[in-house]
Amino acid sequence: MKFNTKAIHGGQHDVDPAYGAVMPPIYQTTTYSQTTPGGHKGFEYSRSGNPTRAALERAFASLENGNYGMAFGSGLAAIDAVLKLLKPGDEVVSTNDLYGGSYRLFTKIYEDFGIKFHFVGMGNASNIENFITEKTKLIWVETPTNPMMNIIDIKAAAAIAKKHKVLLAVDNTFATPYLQQPLELGADIVMHSATKYLGGHSDVVMGALIVKDKELADRLYFIQNASGAICGPQDSFLMLRGLKTLHVRMQRHCENGKKVAEYLATHPKIENVYWPGFESHANHEIAKAQMNDFGGMISFVTKGNNYEDAIKIVENLKLFTLAESLGGVESLAGHPASMTHASIPKEEREKTGVVDALIRLSVGIEDADDLIADLEQAIG
Ligand SMILES: *Cc1c(COP(=O)(O)O)cnc(C)c1O
Repeated sequence: MKFNTKAIHGGQHDVDPAYGAVMPPIYQTTTYSQTTPGGHKGFEYSRSGNPTRAALERAFASLENGNYGMAFGSGLAAIDAVLKLLKPGDEVVSTNDLYGGSYRLFTKIYEDFGIKFHFVGMGNASNIENFITEKTKLIWVETPTNPMMNIIDIKAAAAIAKKHKVLLAVDNTFATPYLQQPLELGADIVMHSATKYLGGHSDVVMGALIVKDKELADRLYFIQNASGAICGPQDSFLMLRGLKTLHVRMQRHCENGKKVAEYLATHPKIENVYWPGFESHANHEIAKAQMNDFGGMISFVTKGNNYEDAIKIVENLKLFTLAESLGGVESLAGHPASMTHASIPKEEREKTGVVDALIRLSVGIEDADDLIADLEQAIG
């Protein structure tokens, strides 16, 4: 089955044997009747499993070409489940230009449990190997990165992971499986903040993990059930509804992203535009090789790198909503230094390029001309 068909039908066989409903029903139930102890129809208790969530988990697996999918109450709950594979003394080599919440979870919670994190520039993937020791158990890759839109070579990272027998997990939130399928490139675990593009309508907070390997799936499923950070049936239904248009939404996000990036690049008041579709992007060739298109996430810096200029622009925008998050049908703008990345010390964030005047756009699926006109009036 091709991707566009999978977005609608993937994993969705036999969802309603009772009445043949085309959409999986919302099984709003905590428990399931048994005819004799242990005599049930596959579901016992909704933390362990729920038919609506199970339909969604099969859809996640299908979209990423995995064999097993797991849905969580948020993206961070999904990352938390991956980290629970580790033990005190273990080490992780992580992307340095990282989603702020992931960085906070790693450093403020898991470091206290005795896990050591190395935050590493992975623009040249061979750099990962310099930080691998006998204690390394996990490589954590986010690509494209947030908000600098750096690209990391997943195949090269997978080769290093295989050589040293460590797990490779990829946060695929920005790319989505429409643009990039990490399991196909050799990753062991794909993670999503499904809150963003997968849901696509800014109305559900959710996370996902997808794997191919049965043993790894069993360990993660054990953690999902034992720790209990699951999502409810109503949210599972909304996510399934969102997934069905992922391919058409992503196509338009990419088209609009290209137009907006090209407009910004020619603007006299703008200094740098970060978007992997530009030939001048440091890892454009890798992006071209591992992604099907370049997406609708763009960051840029105004000339002079003035904090107040950036604030004025995001306040002046009318169609772009000033808000955290990304990946919805509506366009959003954010100011990482004061919003998503405020929890990272200024010195640390500036090392990775998150300067005071950096603005991040999540280009939505409105008419591109209207979006460009809005930027034009806001930048002035
Ligand atoms: C939002 C986000 C997360 C966290 O997901 P939540 O659903 O907000 O918990 C992780 N990684 C990336 C890249 C994100 O954008």
